[in-house]
Amino acid sequence: MYKNRKHKWTGNIVGVDGGTLQQRKDVYEMCFWFIDKYLSRHRTLDIDIWLKRAKDIEDCHGWTERGDEGRQHFEIELNKELKGDDFSTLVFHELVHVQQYAKGWLKDLNKKGSKVWWRGFQYENYDYYKQPWERQAYRKQETVNKAWKKYLKTRKRRILTIDVK
Ligand SMILES: [Zn+2]
Repeated sequence: MYKNRKHKWTGNIVGVDGGTLQQRKDVYEMCFWFIDKYLSRHRTLDIDIWLKRAKDIEDCHGWTERGDEGRQHFEIELNKELKGDDFSTLVFHELVHVQQYAKGWLKDLNKKGSKVWWRGFQYENYDYYKQPWERQAYRKQETVNKAWKKYLKTRKRRILTIDVK
């Protein structure tokens, strides 16, 4: 995992493992683009992403958050079998959760996701589809994906020119 970790000058680190070289490049670029656009003041984000087969992922996608060594550390699993917009909206869905945590809107109170704090209120065993942070992530994944596609049309070259192996 750690052999594939990339920094940008901001201090944020992203690690991507699994999938094809092209998928890893795409995910790196989506991450750094997202951070530049939506988390531009953050300098200690530490995001580890695993690209996995659908059957190896619990609940279709998974993520956990933990803070270690003063950084904001996030772990994300993505279904690498998805293509096109299905894949990019999944990436952005999970990155919206990173944003929710990084900005302090969302806090996981029991480290299991079943007891959380969201914008001043505590939620316990709340129905998944009614969870306001999920509703926000489903809403935002579409607008972020639109902005990403617009960016892809106008960009002259990739954000990351460093080699990804
Ligand atoms: Zn979600």
